[in-house]
Amino acid sequence: MSDMGDGAGLLVAQDEVVELASELIRIDTTNTGNPSTVVGERAAAEWVAEKLAEVGYETTYVESGAKGRGNVIARLAGADRSRGALLVHGHLDVVPADPSEWSVHPFSGAVQDGYVWGRGAVDMKDMVAMSLAVARRFKRDGVVPPRDIVFAFLADEEAGGFFGAKWLVENRPELFEGVTEAISEVGGFSITLKDDARAYLIETAEKGIRWLTLRVRGTAGHGSMIHRDNAVAKLAEAVTKLGRHQFPLVIRPSVREFLDGVTEITGWDFPDEDIEGAVGKLGALSRMIGATLRDTANPTMLSAGYKANVIPSVAQATVDCRILPGREEAFDRELAELLGPDVEREWVGLPPVETTFDGALVDAMAASITAEDPGAKVLPYMLSGGTDAKSFQQLGIRNFGFAPLRLPADLDFSALFHGVDERVPVDALKFGVRVLERFLRNS
Ligand SMILES: [Zn+2]
Repeated sequence: MSDMGDGAGLLVAQDEVVELASELIRIDTTNTGNPSTVVGERAAAEWVAEKLAEVGYETTYVESGAKGRGNVIARLAGADRSRGALLVHGHLDVVPADPSEWSVHPFSGAVQDGYVWGRGAVDMKDMVAMSLAVARRFKRDGVVPPRDIVFAFLADEEAGGFFGAKWLVENRPELFEGVTEAISEVGGFSITLKDDARAYLIETAEKGIRWLTLRVRGTAGHGSMIHRDNAVAKLAEAVTKLGRHQFPLVIRPSVREFLDGVTEITGWDFPDEDIEGAVGKLGALSRMIGATLRDTANPTMLSAGYKANVIPSVAQATVDCRILPGREEAFDRELAELLGPDVEREWVGLPPVETTFDGALVDAMAASITAEDPGAKVLPYMLSGGTDAKSFQQLGIRNFGFAPLRLPADLDFSALFHGVDERVPVDALKFGVRVLERFLRNS
């Protein structure tokens, strides 16, 4: 039985999403990146499992590679089980927050001034709460979606998913059997361009991540003497060279489509000869869109030596490299040429992600947005950072960032990610539930 015409169940979902987000923020799930100091993922996963079980879901709890790294997976059967399933995933962990910098305690989940406040409010306990509210509504009201939906609530995204999505994909792929497409962060949010024209950005691509270690060897010796083979000096040269290097401008289709869409709405031009200057017109968003025009390599850590008068034999640096889809081999060649054979290179990383902005799923996203915000445009874009989509791509799943939020024009949304006073508008959460519900009922 289904009550698809009845709005009462949807009202309940919109009401409870605020409390769900707030409660979830109150569970501190700080991921320091150091597996020995991560907290709360198990408690959060158990809380999610309880919320799902309460309305009749069967849930699977899995620890991904280490004790306490909790994940919860639940499947809702669709009308046509022969169709590929849709994965709705969200991570439960958050980055650290220093309470002394915040207006409210980052783990208070305070609901005030029209916002839910706290670490994770936009990254991404908002979407977790929205997904939960819709999952609960469907089960409570007997709504059968067109195809299977797999809900996954995951650990360790903030440290690359090595103890979360990546581990599950490599060790428990059967949990995602039959899944062909997925939605999650970071997309579906609105930006306001000129004259109150809103566009919603769907993430269709992500740069790849390479955390690169550079190592240079020299001859150890006494700091007082003439010395021509100093590892520290050689490393400093390499780091400076790489830090100042500009990789070539490459406009991927997702970036081109985004810029063309903005031109259509605003009339702004983005000419190739000054594309970076032109992207500045996007305001706060230009920090991220600007980073999707080229590969980047930002040195972040240096280490060498242990005493003022001892020249060490080794020096090393860490460089955070972000690589455009299709550029991985070219990036390697460019790096080798730039640094030469004496700089050893080692890296861990995750691949770029890219899909096209078309097909039935994209149409359903656009339709569910415009049903709630008529006249809004829906555009693809490339995320400069990374998400668990990188891991799900390994299973051949087509990934989108679609966590719908209608945001106030003056909110610097991208600054809230990992930022101080992270918060999400209550209205945006309710909007998100309505959009997500319609989308999942029609996909
Ligand atoms: Zn996130």
